Amino acid sequence: MQVYFDADADPDLVRSKRIAVLGYGNQGRPQALNLRDSGVSQMRIALRDGSPSAGRAGADGFDVMTPAEAARWADILVMLFPDEEQARVYRDELAPHMKPGAALVFAHGLAIHFGLVEPRADLDVVLAAPKGPGTALRDEYLQGGGLLSLFAVHQDATGSARALAFSYTAALGSGRVGMLETSFAEECEADLFNEQAVLWGAIPELIHAGFETLVEAGFSPEVAYLECLTELKLIADLIYQRGIAGMRWTISNTAEFGALKGGDRIITADTRTEMRRILREVKNGSFVKDLIADAESGYPLLKTSRAKAAAHPIEAVGARLRALKS
Ligand code: NDP
Ligand code: MG
Repeated sequence: MQVYFDADADPDLVRSKRIAVLGYGNQGRPQALNLRDSGVSQMRIALRDGSPSAGRAGADGFDVMTPAEAARWADILVMLFPDEEQARVYRDELAPHMKPGAALVFAHGLAIHFGLVEPRADLDVVLAAPKGPGTALRDEYLQGGGLLSLFAVHQDATGSARALAFSYTAALGSGRVGMLETSFAEECEADLFNEQAVLWGAIPELIHAGFETLVEAGFSPEVAYLECLTELKLIADLIYQRGIAGMRWTISNTAEFGALKGGDRIITADTRTEMRRILREVKNGSFVKDLIADAESGYPLLKTSRAKAAAHPIEAVGARLRALKS
């Protein structure tokens, strides 16, 4: 896969445009600040009336407007508010007002890939997806680096959509470290799969299961917490810096021998079968259908699962131990 850098991008392209960032949350704030520091001078933040985020955007020196005002004003609209809101906001507040030949930038392929947003034919539609949380996007940028980003073009109405994707992604700081080309479909499906099968679904469940096994067997919750949760930070940092094989050089032979005994008894053939089933549910749209259904009824499933996670005994131990450090 080819990797692109700042030298492949025209920084003046985004600097010459009016950019409105819709949403000022996890991604919206860091992206807006990075763009401004990369020389984009004509920028606005778009938020709904009465938005709690408006104060923060104002304090950071940005003018705030409504999505409809932003659509009339901007050359580039950046969709950095929740995926499940994007269909309605695009249809009612953006599509009727956007300038001919304007551009939509997404940070995730979901709304386009699953047809929730059906963009007007005259618009450029691109993806700029930093691989990591917004806090890291901003921190790395301030240290002179950036996050690796994926970029893609869904619709090139003006002939310059790909150049725009390069210019925008580079302005986030990713041109300093690497930009990789993908499609909306690939980015979206891999991201949704990983959320469930590896990161947010599987790892917390693994921690809970390990903690519960030790506590049930009479171990103190503090020791169980330190073993099953705290050390995750260590292994994540090591894998991030050195890869999985490289991480092994820094752990004891005992830990490494433990890895060989345990790993494939926990991640079994059944686990891999279930992973393939999760991938099928992502690809056939049934996951997104469930997500939208939950959103439309006020998130009953999401709220129950949040409450269940908050009530788990590991939280009380964690709060006590984390307080010791601060
Ligand atoms: P957030 O949940 O942080 O977005 C919240 C922001 O959106 C708030 O400013 C909120 O304003 C605003 N908002 C909510 N509803 C609307 C609306 N109807 N109209 C306008 N603004 C609205 O989103 P994320 O940053 O987590 O995600 C944004 C996009 O980035 C998504 O596509 C996501 O998949 C993608 N992404 C996210 C990553 C992350 O780090 N979280 C990583 C990579 C991609 P208010 O104060 O009014 O509620
Ligand atoms: Mg994701």
